[in-house]
Amino acid sequence: MIYFDHNASTPVRPEAREAMAEALAGPGANPSSAHSLGQRARAAVERAREQVAALVGARPEAVTFVSGGTEGDHASVIGMALALEKRGRAIAISAIEHHAVHGAGEVLERIGFRVTHLPVDARGFLDPASVPAAASGHTLVAVMLANNETGVIQPVAEIAARARAAGLAVQCDAVQAAGKIPVDFAALGVDALVISAHKLAGPKGVGALILRDGAPYEPLFRGSAHERGRRGGTENLPGIVGFGVAAECAARELASERTRMLALRGRLEDGIRAALPDTAIHGERAPRLPNTVNASFPGARSDHLLMALDARGVAVSAGAACASGAVEPSPVLKAMGVPRELAVCALRLSMGRTTTAEEVDRVVAAIGESVRAVRGGAAAAAARS
Ligand code: PLP
Repeated sequence: MIYFDHNASTPVRPEAREAMAEALAGPGANPSSAHSLGQRARAAVERAREQVAALVGARPEAVTFVSGGTEGDHASVIGMALALEKRGRAIAISAIEHHAVHGAGEVLERIGFRVTHLPVDARGFLDPASVPAAASGHTLVAVMLANNETGVIQPVAEIAARARAAGLAVQCDAVQAAGKIPVDFAALGVDALVISAHKLAGPKGVGALILRDGAPYEPLFRGSAHERGRRGGTENLPGIVGFGVAAECAARELASERTRMLALRGRLEDGIRAALPDTAIHGERAPRLPNTVNASFPGARSDHLLMALDARGVAVSAGAACASGAVEPSPVLKAMGVPRELAVCALRLSMGRTTTAEEVDRVVAAIGESVRAVRGGAAAAAARS
């Protein structure tokens, strides 16, 4: 199989695997224990904290280990909204946020908060001018750095500057950006940033919440003083160690991988366009992640295409959700104003560090064949009905 779904998750790189195996084979001490074995485990956690902090230009003390992007998004959106509750009970979320952020918004709505959704334009871009005024009762803006479906990179620093001027806190989901493009926590000017290990060749089930010094925050998991009181729970030592090593490798390879990915993305898009000139590439006119292509193939439904490609040995994501036979356009493409008939024909192709030019060429050929087969099947079905 050719794996073209790196935005969903990535293979764990050998360096991280080895570090994790070593951590798993160790004495199993708790990093909070006072004995020397516990202290050795603590040192491994702190080393990983430095490695993760370095990837995003943060101080190690700013990093809190969590169980992944979903927890990081919930902890920061809910934790900051609760800490700012006295000032207002409304938050603003960009319309294209990941389910993890929308889910956190739903929890807040459940307890009486108001959640507003900020629109994006046809390029998938959030207009910084849409940041609400403090007088509106909003206390927090959540905006992602790079979208998981289209790869579109948001003007987060500009949005954060406007939000700060209006007295609002800013939460930023950088899960898809970290390891693919440079991420500078201080330069972004946000209060909270979230990243996840399994999107950058680390293990699943571990991530980081990075908080600005003095950021308004109330922990969700309480009861013990782990992670400086920001997240109760014994640390996932092997996961954290693997995350640290993956982050260090990603930082080292960032520039070269970015250049390589951009060349592969160009090859992929040119190849697809040559084979299927009516292809629509979503977010094409905006700055995008170098590894991601979200494209619609008119007349070929996402779910049918995904299966046709799977049968030809290519794993991708559908750009539309399928529930009991019906296909629903993705909320991200909907928010960008992509017409329904085009949005239900979208695929997300996402490459990573294991992707080669030869794989790209084989994927282009498989997409050409699959689109023609699915269109042929759709035409035959229409003729029968
Ligand atoms: N945020 C974004 C943008 C994502 O793409 C994902 C995963 O798909 C998440 C959050 C959730 O991260 P995790 O799988 O680590 O919970």
